[in-house]
Amino acid sequence: MTVIDLTRAPLEDQFRRAITYLRVSVTDKCNLRCVYCMPEGGLTWLPKADILSLEEIAEIVRAAASVGVRSVRLTGGEPLVRRDLASLVRMIARIPGIEDIALSTNGLLLDAQLDELVDAGLRRVNVSLDTLNEQRFFEIARRPGLDRVIRSIYAAFAAGLAPIKINCVVMRGRNDDELGAFADLTRECPVFVRFIEVMPVHENLDLQREGYISSDEILERLRAHGELRPVSGPGGNGPARYFAYDGAAGAVGVISPLSHDYCERCNRVRLSADGKLRLCLFGDQHVDLRTPLRAGSTIEQLAAILRGSMLIKPERHHLDLGEASSRMRAFSEIGG
Ligand code: SAM
Ligand code: SF4
Repeated sequence: MTVIDLTRAPLEDQFRRAITYLRVSVTDKCNLRCVYCMPEGGLTWLPKADILSLEEIAEIVRAAASVGVRSVRLTGGEPLVRRDLASLVRMIARIPGIEDIALSTNGLLLDAQLDELVDAGLRRVNVSLDTLNEQRFFEIARRPGLDRVIRSIYAAFAAGLAPIKINCVVMRGRNDDELGAFADLTRECPVFVRFIEVMPVHENLDLQREGYISSDEILERLRAHGELRPVSGPGGNGPARYFAYDGAAGAVGVISPLSHDYCERCNRVRLSADGKLRLCLFGDQHVDLRTPLRAGSTIEQLAAILRGSMLIKPERHHLDLGEASSRMRAFSEIGG
């Protein structure tokens, strides 16, 4: 008779979805103020003492890896404003079971940190880029920096990171006239440009209502620039659907958290900068990992808490267009 060791069974929620992907928010801070994401004046930042140390994050990743998590994405806020992120990458790269470490960044600080990140074990990067126009960049991000983002994307290519994904939040009247320019980028360069539906968060409700464009409309407008065929995309854990133009080096993709949710295929949970395990993109369901960690819990005890958390992972989100998330930081789970 085969004896199944339940302490080693991989994480699975009540809906039989295997959880293999952990998104780690290493900071809530950011050096940009994208109109769809953060208020101009920033957020009420988390107290320093509440933020997990890099070692504490690595400990939680170790526990997650012991129950089947295989991919980790570092995100934020802006992860590269966290000092010494490369040493976290190095710690995670050494954890048995972790097969993939990726980073979501706005790209401003990537060029300067790239060598040490790659040396530490980073292999993939997603860079946010909503416009190819300097003035617009300033209007959307409310800080300058397009030249630095472009430099970082070139540097990522030169360093051999692959695949390189670009995340573009599409907003009517702000950047939707650049769909063609981004489409052309995918014809020439081996990049995956993913167009994201703008979601309601914080104080962006008016912008979201006015600026929202569904992925169906985005695709229709992309088709005006040439025939698109569905392609399998670059792999990874994302919810994007990909398409390519004839002979293109790269591909376009759409991410549709609102119009076509991907809850059925959900394989992810998220660790917030202050140590909460968030079970859903738009829900409040979470489990505190920082308290048991700081009280001296072992990897096995943390793993048991992770297993228990599966009971409150909801089947799907219930966010509709025009309705704000009750959890304000929901957005950082998507796209990146
Ligand atoms: N700062 C990094 C960056 O910008 O890539 C990582 C964190 S950011 C919150 C992760 C992703 O979420 C980015 O691609 C960003 O464009 C996207 N995002 C943020 N707010 C959004 C919103 N309201 N709707 C859709 N996407 C959003
Ligand atoms: Fe910062 Fe990323 Fe949010 Fe823009 S989307 S404000 S870069 S965290």
